[in-house]
Amino acid sequence: MSDRYHGYYAGFDLGGTQLKYGVIEAGGRLAFKNKVPSPPDINHLMTLIGSIWKELENKFGRKIKAAGFGFAGFYSLARKRILYSPNYQALNNFPLVPHLKKIIPVPFFIHNDANLAAFGEYIFGRGQQTQSLVFLTIGTGVGSGLILAGELWQGRGGFAGELGHITVNHEGLRCNCGNTGCLETEVSAPALVRNYLNFSGKKEERLTAKDVYLRARAGDEAARKSFDRSGYFLGIGLSIVINLLNPENIIIGGGVMDAGRWLLSPAIKEAKKRSIGESFSLCRIEKASLGNDAGLMGAAAWARQQLARQKSITSTRHKK
Ligand SMILES: [Zn+2]
Repeated sequence: MSDRYHGYYAGFDLGGTQLKYGVIEAGGRLAFKNKVPSPPDINHLMTLIGSIWKELENKFGRKIKAAGFGFAGFYSLARKRILYSPNYQALNNFPLVPHLKKIIPVPFFIHNDANLAAFGEYIFGRGQQTQSLVFLTIGTGVGSGLILAGELWQGRGGFAGELGHITVNHEGLRCNCGNTGCLETEVSAPALVRNYLNFSGKKEERLTAKDVYLRARAGDEAARKSFDRSGYFLGIGLSIVINLLNPENIIIGGGVMDAGRWLLSPAIKEAKKRSIGESFSLCRIEKASLGNDAGLMGAAAWARQQLARQKSITSTRHKK
């Protein structure tokens, strides 16, 4: 792998709360990483990316060959922008390319954040030995990405792999994407809190998904029920991708997965009940291994791969 690539590659992972960024060496080692809060204003975001680029140039000189950007939201391959971002609405329809061109002097490549995190787990993490995987990240929202036949599956327009916005509860609540009863509205951190308040009857209480997890561990019945409910809907979502894709691996990350078996046990039970038996038993369902680095490492690896492919296309043309 290191024979094909040289230099350094930068990766940016912009979510609703944090901008994580870093640099990988050609061989894939993570050479540097950092994170800052995501500014709510898009112009502030561009200024921030500009100053981060200066920081990276100070550290790595001119050796950075390309940069990858993972942005939260529905990324259009044709328009090269986020058409709609349920959890970072400042990105909606913003013309990313001309703005980034002013501040990033090397080739850069953009995609959806969870797609690039899926790519990160595939290249560097839990998915390294596989050719097909479904990646899910469960936190404030639910992001996902697909690797099929060893490639990031982008779909016709770039919108593939939005498992978080597949309907799992036809009577569910409205989602930030506009649909109702999405997987995201049933298993995200806010969903766990909402479940808990419903089961405990303490509608006014303020708490976080982590509190619900700590209470489940301590034996609180309402907390356990809220994980069972979210796990049930997660299991429905998993059975959909198992029956549709017969994947080798389903890799689940994100803050809510810190709750581990409290969410995963009911999810696996439900997925098993609803999946084709052989397909279920061939699929490994595991916790992600790169944690918060999956997105920025995947973005850098995506830039590395896309730049190499661009160059090989150009050299083939020259030979002709
Ligand atoms: Zn949705």
